[in-house]
Amino acid sequence: MSNQPIICVENVSFAYQVNQDQQIPVLQNVSLEVYPGEYLAIIGHNGSGKSTLSKHLNGILTPLEGNVLVNGINTRDKGRIHEVRSRVGMVFQNPDNQIVATIVEDDVAFGLENIGVFAEEMKDRIDFALDAVGMSAFRHRPPHHLSGGQKQRIAIAGILAMKPQCLVLDEATSMLDSYGRQDILAVVRKLHREGMTIVTVTHHMSEVAEADRVVVMEAGKVVLQGTPREVFAHQEKLKELHLDVPDASRIAALVHSEYPAFNPNLIHNEEVVA
Ligand code: ADP
Repeated sequence: MSNQPIICVENVSFAYQVNQDQQIPVLQNVSLEVYPGEYLAIIGHNGSGKSTLSKHLNGILTPLEGNVLVNGINTRDKGRIHEVRSRVGMVFQNPDNQIVATIVEDDVAFGLENIGVFAEEMKDRIDFALDAVGMSAFRHRPPHHLSGGQKQRIAIAGILAMKPQCLVLDEATSMLDSYGRQDILAVVRKLHREGMTIVTVTHHMSEVAEADRVVVMEAGKVVLQGTPREVFAHQEKLKELHLDVPDASRIAALVHSEYPAFNPNLIHNEEVVA
C-alpha cells in the first residue's frame, strides 16, 4: 500500500437541514484516510452515520465543517466534481434505483456518455467492465429481467467503466438474497485482489472479516478502528453497540481465511422469471 491516501476525511462534521430552524447533527469531527489498494469496512448501529459518511467520500454530500480530499481535490470544488466522481464510484443499497437504461450495455455506457468518451474507447471499457463482473453474456439483455445480484453487478460495471481508483459500497448487499450477496462479495473480492481500493458499509460480520481495516462508528463518531482481529477483540464495546459479534471460533475461521479465486461460472447466473 502506498503512503499517499486516495481519500482524506479531515475533521468532518455534518448535519441534515430538516427545515429553516432545525438541523440533525450526524457526523462529529470525523477523520479518516483511505489508502490505495486497501479494503476498508465501516460498521456501526443503524443511524450512526455510516451512510452519511460514505456519501462524503465522492462529494455527494459536502461537509458542514472540515474537508474531504480525493487525490488532493477538495470535494467542495464543484468545478472538479466529475474528476472526484470518476475516481471514487458509489454503489447503493437498491439495485433498481441504479439502473437507468433498457439494455445492459447502454446502462454501463451511461456514465461514459456523460463524460464524452469516444465510441471505440467506450466499447473497450464496456467489454472490460462487463467481463470484470462476469456479465458479458448479458450485454444485450434488458436489466429488469435480471436478479438483484445481477443488477448490482451491472451497477458495479457502470462504475468500473469510469476507471475509478476506489469503489464505495453502501450496504450494497443488504437488499439481496444470499445468492446475490455471495455474487457481489465474489466480485468485490476479485476486484480487490486486482488492486481496486474498496470501502464497504456493512453490518455483515463475515464481510467485515475480509477487510484489511475496520472503522466502527457510534453516534457520528469513529470509536474504534483496526484490523478485523483487533476490532473483534473489543467484544464488550461491539455488544454495547448492538453489533453481532462472531464467537471466537468463527472469528478464527473468518479472519485471514483463504477464499476461492473468482470464477464467473460459479456466479449464479439464473434469471428471475417474471
Ligand atoms: P447509518 O448509515 O449508520 O444507518 P445514516 O447516515 O443513514 O446512518 O443516518 C444517520 C442519521 O441521519 C439518522 O438519524 C438518520 O435518520 C439521519 N438522516 C439520514 N438521512 C437523512 C436525510 N436525508 N434527512 C434528514 N435526516 C437524515
